[in-house]
Amino acid sequence: MSIDLRGVFSGKTLRLPIDEKFDFSDLEVGGNKPINSEVSVKGSVYTRAEVVTLEAVAKFSYKAPCDRCCKITEKTFEIPINHIIVNTLADEDESDFIVSENMELDLEDLTRSDVILGLPFLFLCKEDCKGICPKCGKNLNTEECICKPEVDERWAKLSEFYD
Ligand SMILES: [Zn+2]
Ligand SMILES: [Zn+2]
Repeated sequence: MSIDLRGVFSGKTLRLPIDEKFDFSDLEVGGNKPINSEVSVKGSVYTRAEVVTLEAVAKFSYKAPCDRCCKITEKTFEIPINHIIVNTLADEDESDFIVSENMELDLEDLTRSDVILGLPFLFLCKEDCKGICPKCGKNLNTEECICKPEVDERWAKLSEFYD
């Protein structure tokens, strides 16, 4: 999906609205295909002081097991898609910029990589999910268990001393 940026680069268009929908249902994350809605991208490409800027937000629903307790959890994510777009790269160091080939921008590709980068490292059912006891397998969010916490080797000697 390419967006024509000729108007923006020539200065004829000051603001190009973006309102697109993508299907990323095939995107795999940790063995799951968690994106369970269309990905809507809304925002605009605009020029200010001769700098072409893309400012948009990708919004979608995400359904996957919690990384700690495995509970199936559904959340709505809103991931910013913010970039400065240039025609040519004047300096190799400016790798933060997106280079638009032939004054076009592949918004779907860009959104896909920003979504992957924007997903949390740990997907949790709630911020303070206690997870599952590694010994008895109980879900510690709903049950308590009597397993003793793993004793750090360095402290094992010390607790022997106190027993
Ligand atoms: Zn959880
Ligand atoms: Zn336990």
